Amino acid sequence: MSKTATATPKTATEAVNPFHMAQAQFDHIADMMGLSADARQILRWPMREFKFQIPVRMDDGSLKVFFGYRVQHNDARGPAKGGIRFHPNETLDTVRALAMWMTWKTAVVDIPLGGGKGGVAVNPASLSRREREALVRGWIDQIWRNIGPRIDVPAPDVGTTPQMMGWMMDEYSKRVGQYTPGVITGKPLPVGGSPGRKEATGFGVIYQVREAMKLLGMDPEKSTASVQGFGNVGQHAALGFTKFLGGKVVSVAYYDIRDRTPYTISHPQGLDIEYLMSITDIFGSIDKDQARAAGYAVEDGDAWLSKDVDVLIPAALEAQIRADNVDRISDRVRILAEGANGPTTPEADQVLARREILVIPDFLCNAGGVMVSYFEGVQSDMNYYWTRDEVLERLDKKITHAFHQVFALAQGEGLYPRDAAYIVAVQRVVETMEVRGWI
Ligand code: NAD
Repeated sequence: MSKTATATPKTATEAVNPFHMAQAQFDHIADMMGLSADARQILRWPMREFKFQIPVRMDDGSLKVFFGYRVQHNDARGPAKGGIRFHPNETLDTVRALAMWMTWKTAVVDIPLGGGKGGVAVNPASLSRREREALVRGWIDQIWRNIGPRIDVPAPDVGTTPQMMGWMMDEYSKRVGQYTPGVITGKPLPVGGSPGRKEATGFGVIYQVREAMKLLGMDPEKSTASVQGFGNVGQHAALGFTKFLGGKVVSVAYYDIRDRTPYTISHPQGLDIEYLMSITDIFGSIDKDQARAAGYAVEDGDAWLSKDVDVLIPAALEAQIRADNVDRISDRVRILAEGANGPTTPEADQVLARREILVIPDFLCNAGGVMVSYFEGVQSDMNYYWTRDEVLERLDKKITHAFHQVFALAQGEGLYPRDAAYIVAVQRVVETMEVRGWI
């Protein structure tokens, strides 16, 4: 299936800057597509970027200033759309990369939205509930004039939760003087959230794994998976893998917020995902003592990558599969389903392409979240809500269609799937910019 792979060589040990990675992927595709200089100039950088202070009065009475970001990469196809990440290593470049990938994500699944992303450099687990609320309300305080249902619609991502989205919606509604649930998605149900949003990204990953298995003639019930990340995406991907496909998840990796170390929890006969979810906190940190007591092994954080499984699902952070560790992937692995954004570096892509592992590329694979966010926006605007079954049925239909569009191109032209997904997405954005008279 693989002819070319997204490429820009870098040494294995060089630290990965996600924005350089996103730009390298774009440059590679722009060359492949023979994109005009006009389109390249606009798309290589975000259209708008905001960096701001958020002063928060802490519980001990001191004032602490956090740094917040919002980047709107491109809004040709509709309002910018993308999550807000609370993470200690958050930088403007991380947010830029994630915003750019959002532009391709909304385009590849053909929903009328653009790409944006936000963040705060903070470890949310270090804050009390009151401090967290003050921080998210402060984020809105700084940026409310530049977001809105027709401008830019944020959502949750790593380190942020539905409750935080609810506080943000409340703060925005107070600022503009009217109830505006459509300003943000991923909200709790009582304030205009959509049924199915919480599960959407992980389930969307699994709907596509199901289709990939059909392409490869695999038996889902005999299949095994290893997952990195046990937050919103990892939990629901693992759950979907066992519930919808009947397969076994033999290991999940997570980052322990108490001793600040990544671990892998595993069992060769498969893990009870619902039980693991019951001993996991809101930031995706598993209680490893309880896991051990349940008979599960607690291994090193990187053990998930070398498991002898059929499917690998990275669902934590970017640059987790690199030139220096890609060779640890077992020969048995046939599918790499990228639940996370940017988990694979361009150098690792080249190895995966050579080994003919079927890669479901990030901005297609994890697009279930933004798709149901879009459904949530539609429902919020109408003030009329669908059932969970209706939401998940629409998600499955639309994401399965997008998957087959990309894989038909990949197989027809002998392209690496990431390249095929980029071509579909970039073509749609460029065409819209042309029709709007931007280029
Ligand atoms: P989350 O905060 O809910 O969970 C993150 C998980 O990753 C946690 O279990 C954490 O312990 C784990 N983790 C962090 N560092 C790790 C490490 N070094 N090793 C192992 N595990 C580690 O975040 P999420 O919302 O599930 O997002 C996960 C990924 O999916 C991110 O790349 C995010 O951008 C992407 N994504 C999320 C959504 C969404 O709807 N939430 C949508 C699309 C893409």
